[in-house]
Amino acid sequence: MNRLPVVFAGHGDPRNALRDNAWSRALARLGAEIGRPRAVVCVSAHWTTDGLRATSEAAPRTIHDFSGFPPELYAFRYPAPGSPETAALVRGALGGEAALDDGGWGLDHGAWSVLAHLYPRADVPVVELSVDPARSGGFHLDVGRRLAPLRERGILILGSGNVVHNLARLDWSPRAAPEPWCAEFDAHVKARTEAGDADSLAGDPAAMPGGALSVPTPEHWLPYLCVLGAAAGDAVAWEHEGLEHGSLSMRTASFGLR
Ligand code: ZN
Repeated sequence: MNRLPVVFAGHGDPRNALRDNAWSRALARLGAEIGRPRAVVCVSAHWTTDGLRATSEAAPRTIHDFSGFPPELYAFRYPAPGSPETAALVRGALGGEAALDDGGWGLDHGAWSVLAHLYPRADVPVVELSVDPARSGGFHLDVGRRLAPLRERGILILGSGNVVHNLARLDWSPRAAPEPWCAEFDAHVKARTEAGDADSLAGDPAAMPGGALSVPTPEHWLPYLCVLGAAAGDAVAWEHEGLEHGSLSMRTASFGLR
């Protein structure tokens, strides 16, 4: 099997799992173009742990890790199988850094709101990997670099988060304009990514243009750094771009696909 690409998806509102929009159609096209991998390793913004953890159960449950959403979202299930074998490969690649989790977690909406469109048949085994917000950007970039060899074993590395994610500054009015700092950081990330400058992006976001308000907490940003590490310098293609609700970037990318 050839070396698989790496994907980062901005996920935004959990209701995107059920929506048909430009973002969901971009993910559907991307899944069809990549084809069916042997397994997916999904780094999710919604699993934050002290030390990394990887799901290793054979049948991970669907977790509804939010409140106040419509009943149809709680009824949604993404019944993809797990893959204890892939979890062991992840643990091996990370030199034992990731502990195996065989039932404490499952698939959260960071994973399934994206996978619902990327692989709607839920027939590809999925291992979810957490992020550790206490560790640096450089640590998460290195996690991605250590996972990169799995791409040659038919495993799709997927990061799910948001390049800009500031819930406290969301504007729900239908025509909310992007905050200047949101547009600034999103453009900075785009430019540095296209320049292949993963190392500068692994620095302190507060020192980057617009970064302090765009990354008020690290968990939605860290999956992007894991993806940059796994991309190992491969060329980026922007699968979807868009700033929503003033303070959310839906930027979605593939690396090494075209
Ligand atoms: Zn989220």
